[in-house]
Amino acid sequence: MPKRIYSFGGGKAEGSKDMKDVLGGKGAGLAEMSNIGIPVPPGFTITTDVCAEFSRAGKKLPRGLDAELRAALKKVEALTGKGFGDPSNPLLVSVRSGARVSMPGMMDTVLNLGLNDATVEGLAVRSGNPRFAWDSYRRFVAMFGDVVLGMKPERKEDLDPFEVILDAKKHARGARFDSELPVDALRELVGEFKAEIRRRLGVAFPDDPAEQLRESVAAVFRSWDNDRAIAYRRMNGIPSEWGTAVTVQSMVFGNMGDDSGTGVAFTRNPANGANEFYGEFLVNAQGEDVVAGTRTPQKISELEARWPEIAGQLSEVRSRLERHNREMQDIEFTIERGRLYVLQTRTGKRTGLAAVRIAVEMAEARLLSKEEALLRVEPEALNHLLRPVFDAERKAAAVKGGKLLAKGLPAGPGAASGRLVFFAEDAEAWRARGETVLLARHETSPEDIRGMAAAEGFLTAFGGMTSHAALVARQMGKVAIVGCEVLRFDYHARRMIVSTPAGERTFAEGEWISIDGTAGEVIEGRLETRPSEVLQVVVERSRDPKDAPTYQLFAKLLSWADQVRRLKVRANADQPDQATTAVALGAQGIGLCRTEHMFFGEEKIGPMREMIVAETEPDRRRALAKLLPLQREDFRGLFIAMAGRPVTIRTLDPPLHEFLPHDDAGIAELARATGRSVEKIRERVAELAESNPMLGHRGCRLGISYPEITEMQARAIFEAAIDALEQGAKVEPEVMIPLVGTRKELDHQTTVVRRVAEEVFAERGKKVRYLVGTMIEVPRGAITAGEIARTAEFFSFGTNDLTQTTFGLSRDDTGPVLRSYLDKDIYAVDPFVSIDRDGVGGLMRIAVAAGRATRPGMKLGICGEHGGDPSSVVFCHEIGLDYVSCSPFRLPIARLAAAQAALREAAAKAKAKGARARPAKRNGNGVHVRSGKAARTRRVRAVRARA
Ligand code: ADP
Ligand code: MG
Ligand code: MG
Repeated sequence: MPKRIYSFGGGKAEGSKDMKDVLGGKGAGLAEMSNIGIPVPPGFTITTDVCAEFSRAGKKLPRGLDAELRAALKKVEALTGKGFGDPSNPLLVSVRSGARVSMPGMMDTVLNLGLNDATVEGLAVRSGNPRFAWDSYRRFVAMFGDVVLGMKPERKEDLDPFEVILDAKKHARGARFDSELPVDALRELVGEFKAEIRRRLGVAFPDDPAEQLRESVAAVFRSWDNDRAIAYRRMNGIPSEWGTAVTVQSMVFGNMGDDSGTGVAFTRNPANGANEFYGEFLVNAQGEDVVAGTRTPQKISELEARWPEIAGQLSEVRSRLERHNREMQDIEFTIERGRLYVLQTRTGKRTGLAAVRIAVEMAEARLLSKEEALLRVEPEALNHLLRPVFDAERKAAAVKGGKLLAKGLPAGPGAASGRLVFFAEDAEAWRARGETVLLARHETSPEDIRGMAAAEGFLTAFGGMTSHAALVARQMGKVAIVGCEVLRFDYHARRMIVSTPAGERTFAEGEWISIDGTAGEVIEGRLETRPSEVLQVVVERSRDPKDAPTYQLFAKLLSWADQVRRLKVRANADQPDQATTAVALGAQGIGLCRTEHMFFGEEKIGPMREMIVAETEPDRRRALAKLLPLQREDFRGLFIAMAGRPVTIRTLDPPLHEFLPHDDAGIAELARATGRSVEKIRERVAELAESNPMLGHRGCRLGISYPEITEMQARAIFEAAIDALEQGAKVEPEVMIPLVGTRKELDHQTTVVRRVAEEVFAERGKKVRYLVGTMIEVPRGAITAGEIARTAEFFSFGTNDLTQTTFGLSRDDTGPVLRSYLDKDIYAVDPFVSIDRDGVGGLMRIAVAAGRATRPGMKLGICGEHGGDPSSVVFCHEIGLDYVSCSPFRLPIARLAAAQAALREAAAKAKAKGARARPAKRNGNGVHVRSGKAARTRRVRAVRARA
């Protein structure tokens, strides 16, 4: 039978820190601390396997556990010199939960177990402190009643039943704090608590310590499956099979008087990462009192003045635990009559800023290698270093003051305050006169782009994390909340209506609103923000890097990442200023320039609309001729900003009607500009309307119907390239044709592009090297990639559309589907955020293998939004892409994720090499298990053959 219980104490332990799976994080930490001689009260841990046994047996403790518990208790009795249930010298224990990964506050703990009417007297005599004994007893009865017997408030508005009795007692005795209650009041409380348990639950409080222990162990196992633990596991992807361990540990008492106390501390500051001891403690208090907030704790720095000797010991513990675990620790300690005990140590949670600082500083202090430091930081954490932020105290005060209006999807992290406007053009106009604005709308569309650039942030009622507003927010680095469903807009009255639990609230244009795009919270009124230091250095160049410590940490970590990553990173950018930002944030090229965004510029939308409503080719060419110089100028700016790095330019992609005016004024204006009747324009607009525009006349289909559009764009690209060349810039254009599903589509467009290139080269007497390639974004394109690669010189995976078309799920209508699918666990994650490895990823693997089979060494990248998602970046590394392209502000995340992918792969290879040195492994069928690239390629080929 496997070992069910592991003991610790007296300077040694049966377990160790490497046994988190079996002993839980807490149990493993306590065992390890015992092993290295840190003072830990003795105890034992019941394994997570017993939790599984418990569940299988219908929530019953396995037979035989009782005897093992008794044996383990004997050891604790020997080490402490006390007896469990012994009225003359009682041993009290805590029963603590602890899973593999910490789930703070999700499961239950019982303290002071072993007390009854007899042992409490023994404790009073032994400690010489009856008040302490009875205080412990009343705490135990309440905790046992709550955690084990399940005596909770009956309705959610009710207070905790024990709290009610306690409050009444304090009132009757004229006491403000628990600590002011005299012994006889505490004694009365114990009786009243027990009576209430009997009255409400019809059961007696168990006096037998052995029974108390059995029931508490079972209760902690049960708490693995309570609602909040289940919810937490779901949010954090923790498997339900893991189970919790249970640690039973002899009590030490921080509530024994003014020479006792309890506290929690971090070995470094968890908010900013500073290498300082950070924490709080309370004198004469027990366990949860510090967190519960009933009394204001003191700062750890004040410990020195009060108990210099303890402060010295604790500081020694701090550095030992950190050096031993090579990681920032979160420590719980208790001081009993001047003696220090450590009750817990675990990896401390921290902000993004702290994560970066701690990793870099630990590597510099040679506590970690650079590689380890890189693996310690969640790529997403880098976002915290780029975002403007609200002043934390002011925001908390606003929320407390009832100013939190609504919650939506946190699409663009950071903080922004501004005056409400509801139209893109107003955003521009207000901005031009120096106002700070937030653009709030039902949704946004490409024609809002300039207004969006003018706004501090966006707020929409509609759309998901890949909606237009969310995408633009990431690209521009704007703060945004989308899909905030409690908002309605009365555009005519220029009002936003918010349904709140307290009724409807109306906000007029111009009122101040603040949005926290990291939390997805909409707050009424104006809150101060602070710009991020990194961007002040890198983008604004308003700050000297030497005076920017956060920037220095950021730059250092990323320079290490750049040394180890194999994947290149590019940016999705369409404007020269975005390109400059992208280069500053590490872009090695542009992976996607969406030319359509250029057409929304001041003078460009007019000729663009003329081009669209034109009915004959000559008319269309006339309009295109007006667009040519404008587009050429944009491209030239991009080439110069990118200084010789490759620039991938996509030909026109969105459905044409997105560019047309839909209101009377706009239609009249267009009629005037084109010299046509309003009726005619209206007809043309109606003609261009489509039922499913995303699957309609868009992408290369436009360029095939109207080759003169592609011609104009190709001419603009090559003329701009030569202009830039003549200005002394190197250029590397890559022309990319969207939405290709058959080779013939690509052939058609490539012919146009190459013909125009030759014309321009002949006219200018100069040549540039360029590539023509395609996006792989419909399943047919992926499956026939081998054929398409005969023409395409590169592939770029457009995973937004590829996800949409693979799932057959419109990316603009994902809201209701995703909500129910994520809720019911049908999708583990939003496939528009993280690549669906089996489906969409399967198609990508097919296309990678087929493309490179036709064209060895073919350049492959990704330009969908997934290019900035850490787990998708890892996938792109695994399938052998050359680069990922993402929004400029996600570049640092992509760089770090790419480095982590390379490091993990190297580690896995080293491990496999070690394994190969030993005899070959066989799987269950007696077949040699192959791994590595060769096997992967074979699998991909097999999939292709089947497809
Ligand atoms: P959580 O995982 O919620 O932090 P813990 O099991 O760590 O739960 O316990 C809650 C509180 O009780 C902590 O403050 C801890 O320090 C305290 N505590 C637990 N066991 C003991 C003990 N044997 N002696 C004194 N205090 C304890
Ligand atoms: Mg704890
Ligand atoms: Mg696309």
